[in-house]
Amino acid sequence: MIPITVVDVGDAEPLVLEVLRSGVIAQGPMVKRFEDLFAQVAGVEHAVAVNNGTTALVASVQALDLQPGDEVVTSPFTFVATLNAILEAGATARFADIDAEDFNVDPAAVAAAVGPRTKVLMPVHLYGQTADMGKLVPLAEEHGLTIIEDSAQAVGATFDGRAAGSFGIGCFSLYATKNVTTAEGGVITTSDAALADKLRVMRNQGMRARYQYEMAGHNYRLTDLHAAVGIPQLERLADINAKRSANAEALSAGLADIPGLRVPAVLPGRTHVWHQYTVLVTEDAKVDRDEFAAKLTEKGIGNGTYYPKVVFDYDCYRDNPNVITSDVPVASRVAQQALSLPVHPKLTTEQIDTIVATVREVLA
Ligand SMILES: *Cc1c(COP(=O)(O)O)cnc(C)c1O
Repeated sequence: MIPITVVDVGDAEPLVLEVLRSGVIAQGPMVKRFEDLFAQVAGVEHAVAVNNGTTALVASVQALDLQPGDEVVTSPFTFVATLNAILEAGATARFADIDAEDFNVDPAAVAAAVGPRTKVLMPVHLYGQTADMGKLVPLAEEHGLTIIEDSAQAVGATFDGRAAGSFGIGCFSLYATKNVTTAEGGVITTSDAALADKLRVMRNQGMRARYQYEMAGHNYRLTDLHAAVGIPQLERLADINAKRSANAEALSAGLADIPGLRVPAVLPGRTHVWHQYTVLVTEDAKVDRDEFAAKLTEKGIGNGTYYPKVVFDYDCYRDNPNVITSDVPVASRVAQQALSLPVHPKLTTEQIDTIVATVREVLA
């Protein structure tokens, strides 16, 4: 079996041992070191490490002190954490359809979704390619909106040379399968010193100095043990993402001419960090996506359906007054056609050849 993802953190052992031996295992100097490195990667002044990507999003929304009924416009084609975070922070979610080229919110649809209660745009940089920040940033400025980038899948991605997480408040995940992992973990990036300060207080029970509470906060702290796992990966992030990129190029070279299959595009001005390599199984294919996925699994090619439905299309959100649904035909179609193939840095040339040959065989 060629797995869809492989966790590679072996080089963390010396730093992890250093933390264990130091006796400081919760949030301490290693978290600070991780944050400083991360801020460099995201091209911002401040990085605030938290315990996962979902709490990064929750804290970012909460830091804006929204009123009940205030709306966040986001993508319907995302991991459920995006929506759950908006709801947990007490905001209302509204959805803008995606563009099938980059799988991210379509700026025209976002513009149409913005109304009098909109306070936040929350694009999701899906699969490792940023949304069209060239259009979303001016749109946010025009309407006085805050941008929160769900950059969970896009550490190191750029748009016009600027890093994901530097256009608005950046929220990253360090979950086990993400391009950089600490097992569980998250990071918020910003160049706003006051916001970074507020987030640091919020993640620590609202406490600035011991027993000096400034707000009703959370325990959203990351631990030094986790930070130690992530530091070596940040140091070799360029190599990690270059390997993913080379793998994606090799896959596309092998798969581009297959009828019924659309390989992923890298749009002009963007660098893609290939968290996922996602093809579309189009209407003219011999099999549908689910059958394609089952055949690949049967033949030993790991694959993943990210995501099988639009995010709000579940009973648990149906009657939630804070979930404002809309017709999102592009996202709905893509959810039926998208399938991700292995692209992780541990793939060998031989395995890429096997993936290409097997996809050809299944679609022939
Ligand atoms: C992984 C992910 C999250 C949540 O991150 P966790 O660390 O798992 O909490 C949020 N949004 C997207 C798009 C993700 O892929």
